Amino acid sequence: MVKVNKNYGNLKENYLFADIARKVSEYQAAHPEANIIRMGIGDVTLPLCEEVIKGLHSGVDDMAKAETFKGYGPEQGYGFLQEAVKGYYESYGVSLDKNEIFISDGAKSDVGNILDIFDKDNTVLVPDPVYPVYVDTNTMDGRNIIYIDANEDNGFLPLPDEEKKADIIYICSPNNPTGAAYNREQLKKWVDFANSNSSVILYDAAYEAFIVDEDVPRSIYEIEGAKTCAIEFCSLSKTAGFTGTRCGYTVVPNTLSFDGFSLNKLWLRRQTTKFNGTSYIVQKGAEQVFTEEGQKEIRANIDYYRENAKIIMSALDELGIKYTGGKNSPYIWLTCPNGMKSWDFFDLLLEKANIVGTPGAGFGENGEGHFRLTAFSNHEKTAEAMERLKGIF
Ligand code: PLP
Repeated sequence: MVKVNKNYGNLKENYLFADIARKVSEYQAAHPEANIIRMGIGDVTLPLCEEVIKGLHSGVDDMAKAETFKGYGPEQGYGFLQEAVKGYYESYGVSLDKNEIFISDGAKSDVGNILDIFDKDNTVLVPDPVYPVYVDTNTMDGRNIIYIDANEDNGFLPLPDEEKKADIIYICSPNNPTGAAYNREQLKKWVDFANSNSSVILYDAAYEAFIVDEDVPRSIYEIEGAKTCAIEFCSLSKTAGFTGTRCGYTVVPNTLSFDGFSLNKLWLRRQTTKFNGTSYIVQKGAEQVFTEEGQKEIRANIDYYRENAKIIMSALDELGIKYTGGKNSPYIWLTCPNGMKSWDFFDLLLEKANIVGTPGAGFGENGEGHFRLTAFSNHEKTAEAMERLKGIF
């Protein structure tokens, strides 16, 4: 008889976004006149920029002619896009070999799939609260997961703890959901800790494009020693509005080896076996993100979201509500006023201000009493939402 992967039975049902959707639709049905402003889901709202659209069109045109038509491409991505990503890293001082860059259909798949190259017998360290994919993908494999607290005391940026050693360490900076971002000195501590314990860091840089602080690295490879302990995941989803278009990249340095194996070679083997590459057309669009004009255009979109973050932060400052994020991140993670619990605050905002956010409790135990707002709405709605918020406090 077929035996299934029983680890799936250990997954906690994640009702977070389903519960939010249900509550919102019930409220809307009971109050059809309510103009609900959604600041919960971490999805972009601005369309792809012009340069990217031009790139996508040129990809489509290539597919229409026998001379330029493309069939299966290289599993690890076309050289033109690897070169473009390499140049992007060089622009902030990180030098990579082309073969260290693997183009993918987004960070979520790579973050999950990378576990194929690691034994199930590794212990995993995950910060709490956290992007749920890290926990769920390891639970599916039956790995032992330990948690490190991210809380107000450490500014939601936990540092290595000798009592909590693990083989695989997840770091997401700038963080989803807290918006907090490690500076160089803090990240160096993690790199040193990983190197001295022969651990690997899985570094999620999906929000690097939002970084403004000079002291916050865009890539973990800006930190000395990272190339012997870290794999970096990045995505064009939030950088360039590719949530629906799908493209990301993962960096596996050639210098990364454990147990007598090169992780770069293992990942190449994994990808060439189980992945047939990202669509040529999408890669042609993605290439344009890294041109001078493309960078100008995507930066303008990010600045637009940043402006929303400023509107939110200034309202919270006025109300004396504590928060992290918003500066190097599209997320604002606030402490619910008056000691309220996350879901109570959710209900209050929905009922009294018709605003939807995300209760922090959905991201882990330490998320209780916190709430995530995103800067991905438009200016008008963001400003209106903040006026309503001021009206209830
Ligand atoms: N990593 C983090 C921390 C995210 O928040 C997200 C998406 O919300 C992803 C990865 C997934 O990105 P992608 O759209 O490239 O799969």
